[in-house]
Amino acid sequence: MSERSGIPGEGLVKGLAVTLKTMTSRSTTQQYPDVAPELPPRSRGVIALLAENCTVCMLCARECPDWCIYIDSHKEEVVVAGAARPRQRNVLDKFDIDFSLCMYCGICVEVCPFDALYWSPEFEYAEYDIKDLLHDKDHLGQWMGTVPPPPAHDHNGEPAKEEATAARKAAAPTSSAAHPTVVRPESGPAADGGTP
Ligand code: SF4
Ligand code: SF4
Repeated sequence: MSERSGIPGEGLVKGLAVTLKTMTSRSTTQQYPDVAPELPPRSRGVIALLAENCTVCMLCARECPDWCIYIDSHKEEVVVAGAARPRQRNVLDKFDIDFSLCMYCGICVEVCPFDALYWSPEFEYAEYDIKDLLHDKDHLGQWMGTVPPPPAHDHNGEPAKEEATAARKAAAPTSSAAHPTVVRPESGPAADGGTP
């Protein structure tokens, strides 16, 4: 015989109390896909590529732990006026990411020194065929339109280097006005016609 004892019907009352509490509390269920979820703007949904910024340095492909970035390129000569010889630059031919292998660690986005890779919060790109999860250069480029703008600068933080440099340059004429340069006197040699 069970050694448990208690008021008869206690379990039923407890169960009903839980039911009542759940019925009256606010539901957290999100009606996806009818209602789009409100994701944080920096969510890791898909990786977007800004191909113009890519210099084919290969850092992202080398650092990717899953080896799921495939890059191909060729070199082309650029003739620069005044230069002794033509320069060479890399032209990006292929940039694929296989999202069936990607583990969304973000290392590629972090290591890119030229701001060519970004996170987009878009996540609705499931496919029936796993091969279609290989996104090529054009497909990755299309995600750029869904990349959110960078967060606003912290007012209490240091200004960005670019902003500080621009502000310094803008302030330069004002400071030179405060300390005017020496003006050649009217009675100088040129005024006298001594120097041609
Ligand atoms: S997020 Fe990580 S796993 Fe995915 S492509 Fe970038 S480095 Fe590779
Ligand atoms: S790290 Fe950036 S610049 Fe270098 S190959 Fe990757 S995307 Fe291009």
